[in-house]
Amino acid sequence: MDTTLTSRSIERVDIEALRVHFQGQLISPHDPAYDETRRIWNAMINRQPGLIAVCSGVADVMAAVRFARKRDLLVSVRGGGHNVAGSAVCDEGLMIDLSRMKGMHVDPDRRTAHAEAGLLWGEFDHETQAFGLATTGGIVTHTGIAGLTLGGGFGWLMRKHGLSSDNLLSVDIMTADGELVRASETRNADLFWGIRGGGGNFGIITSFEFALHPLGPEILAGPVVYPADQAETVMRAYRDYIATAPNELGTIVILHHAPAASWLPEDIHGQPIVSIGVCYAGPIADAESVVRPLHSLGDPLADNVRPTTYKANQAMFDPGAPHGWNYYWKSHYIGVLSDDAIRTMIDKAWQTHSPKSYTIMFHLGGAVRHLNDDATAFGGRGAEHAINIDAAWPTELEGGSEDIEWVHAMWSALASYSTGGVYMNFLGDEGQERVKAAYGRRNMNNWWRSRIVMTRPTSSV
Ligand SMILES: Cc1cc2nc3c(=O)[nH]c(=O)nc-3n(C[C@H](O)[C@H](O)[C@H](O)COP(=O)(O)OP(=O)(O)OC[C@H]3O[C@@H](n4cnc5c(N)ncnc54)[C@H](O)[C@@H]3O)c2cc1C
Repeated sequence: MDTTLTSRSIERVDIEALRVHFQGQLISPHDPAYDETRRIWNAMINRQPGLIAVCSGVADVMAAVRFARKRDLLVSVRGGGHNVAGSAVCDEGLMIDLSRMKGMHVDPDRRTAHAEAGLLWGEFDHETQAFGLATTGGIVTHTGIAGLTLGGGFGWLMRKHGLSSDNLLSVDIMTADGELVRASETRNADLFWGIRGGGGNFGIITSFEFALHPLGPEILAGPVVYPADQAETVMRAYRDYIATAPNELGTIVILHHAPAASWLPEDIHGQPIVSIGVCYAGPIADAESVVRPLHSLGDPLADNVRPTTYKANQAMFDPGAPHGWNYYWKSHYIGVLSDDAIRTMIDKAWQTHSPKSYTIMFHLGGAVRHLNDDATAFGGRGAEHAINIDAAWPTELEGGSEDIEWVHAMWSALASYSTGGVYMNFLGDEGQERVKAAYGRRNMNNWWRSRIVMTRPTSSV
C-alpha cells in the first residue's frame, strides 16, 4: 500500500482538530482499517483518500463537511458503495462514509418511512415488509438506498409506483456550507427538484422520507428461462405482450449464461439463455392470468415464477453481483424494441469472454410516465427500456479487456436505437458530454438553475 501523502494530504494535527467534533471513526492511510474501508463493490476501483470519515450521525456529517470546506478538500460521499465508476471514493481528499448510518422508522398508519443514508435496499425492505409495505427499490439487496434514489431509482415496482425518487416526500440535506436543511415540494423546492434524478451533486442527504405502498409479503414473481436459439421469437413475443400489460407487471430481460442455480437443470448451467424476470405488484390471485403468456413465449428450459416473498425476490440477483469482482458497464435508453434492435442485441449478447458478463433490460413506462419530463431532474421518462451492458469478471479470471471491448462493441451496435441520454445510475467511465446527457436536454437548464442553490457542490459523478 502506498501511503505517501501528496501536497493535498491531511495533516495529523488537522485530523486531531476534527476528532474533537467527531464521534464516528476517522481512518487515515496508516490505519489498519484503511484498505478495507476505502474498498467498494467494484474491485476495479483503487482510490486512496487522504482521510475517511466514517460518520455515526448527522453531527459527524456536519463536522466533516465544515472541516473539508475550511481546508478546501476534495470530498466524496459513500452510501452503499455500488457506483460502478467509483464516485464514492476520491483520491487524496476526504471520503465521507455514511455506511454506518442505518436508522430507520416506518409509520404504518401514514405509510411512510424515514431512512438514513447508509441503508441498503435489503435492510430497507426488511423493515417495510414487516408491515406489508414497500416502495420502489433496487433489484439487488446490497445496493445503497442513497445513490440509487438520488439518480432516479429503477426497480420491480416502478411501473406501478414510479421511480424510487418519485416516492420521496422529503430529505434532510447538508449543504456545502455545513447547514442541514429540509427539502420537499414545499420547502427548498428547487433543491428537492434537483436531488430527484440529479445524483449527489447538491449536498449530502442524511435522511430520506419515502411514501410506502401495500405489497405482499407474498407475491407472484421469478424468472422464466428460454434457450438463446429461441431468443428472437421470445423477445418479439415479449415486446408484443408488454405493450398492453398492466402497470402491476414489472419485467426485466437478461441475456446471459445460465448460472449454477439449484432451480436450473444442471445440463444448462453455463449455456446461453434469455431470462424473463417477472414481478407482479398486486394480489397473487390477479397475477396468474396476467403472467400466464410469459410462460409460453417459446419452449422454456425452466420456469421459476411462483408465489414467493417480495424480500426473496429482491435477493434473486444477489449471487450474480457479488462484492469484489471487476465490473465495467455502459448503457442506453431505447424505445419500443424493433425487430432490428432485437437482432442486433442477440447477435452480440453471448460473445463475452467471461461467463459472468450479461446484458440487462428494464421495462419502464407505466407510472414512470405519470410525471412530466421536467417534474424532477430525472431525464429518461420517455424511454421504453433502459439497457445496461455489463462486463463482470471475478478477479481470479484472466483477461477483462475482452469483456470491456465486448461492452463497447455491443453498446456501439445499439447506439442507433438509443432514444438519447443515459441513466445517471448506469454511468460508467463516460466523458462530460454523456454526464450532461444524463439530465436530458430540457432538464439540463433546470439543473444549472437548481445548482445555484449550492455555493460549492460536493463530489459529482
Ligand atoms: C449490483 C448492482 C445492482 C444495481 N441495481 C440497480 C437497480 O435495480 N436500479 C437502479 O436504478 N440502479 C441500480 N444500480 C445502480 C445504482 O443505482 C448505482 O450504482 C448507485 O450509484 C448506487 O448507489 P450507492 O449508494 O450504493 O452507491 P455509492 O457508490 O455509495 O454512491 C453513488 C453516488 O451517489 C453519491 N451519494 C451516495 N450517498 C449520498 C448521499 N447520502 N448524499 C449525496 N450523495 C450521495 C455518491 O457520492 C456517489 O456519487 C445497481 C448497481 C449495482 C452495482
